[in-house]
Amino acid sequence: MNNITENYHKIKEEIPKDVKLIVISKTKTESDILEVYNCGHRFFGESKVQELTPKAEKLPKDIEWHLVGHLQRNKVKYIAPFISMIHSVDSFKLLKEVNKRAGNNDRIINCLLQMHIAEESTKFGMTSEELNELLSRPEFSSLKNINVCGLMGMATFTDDKNQVKKEFKSLYNTFLSTKEKFFSTKPDFKELSMGMTDDYQVGIEEGSTMVRIGTAIFGKREQ
Ligand SMILES: *Cc1c(COP(=O)(O)O)cnc(C)c1O
Repeated sequence: MNNITENYHKIKEEIPKDVKLIVISKTKTESDILEVYNCGHRFFGESKVQELTPKAEKLPKDIEWHLVGHLQRNKVKYIAPFISMIHSVDSFKLLKEVNKRAGNNDRIINCLLQMHIAEESTKFGMTSEELNELLSRPEFSSLKNINVCGLMGMATFTDDKNQVKKEFKSLYNTFLSTKEKFFSTKPDFKELSMGMTDDYQVGIEEGSTMVRIGTAIFGKREQ
């Protein structure tokens, strides 16, 4: 049984037009991805460089690829030639490496800064203090090959919708204050990547502009 097309259209209908759907295709085959591609969709996300790179090579070139998982500095060079947006930048060192590799490819790479909003200590991301520190660095404005477009965050994995709501609200407030403090003259800082299969409705209610959805489209992952 294969409901990918049906699931995709259902999610598409549910999401407001001004919220961008990133279809998360990790562990899924090229033919699964092509099924969504053939519905007209062009925005896909993966969480691992070693999985993304071979898929991007084989699949149509007009796909806009997003990296949403934790990124190690030594892997940036593999995605720098083609990546459309990196959602998971969580340190100045990583941002500098992305800038360098983007420059080597004559590109400007769109980045989101990942914030730690969940209760679990295992999730990646920065605190508000770390974010402020990063953006206050004098070297930040010298990075010409990155374009910081907004923030990303993952809520606690819980059935408690109020907890998730609270975390997303707090991320939205950080987004607004960061925009005001550091990006008031930069209209590109406008994205808030917030919401996955279990919490995208809450994410949208709380101001998300990008949702990252895998399971609700492809079904449960084996791994
Ligand atoms: C896997 C993943 C998603 C998608 O999760 P689903 O629950 O399958 O929708 C979104 N964001 C990140 C960072 C992920 O790793």
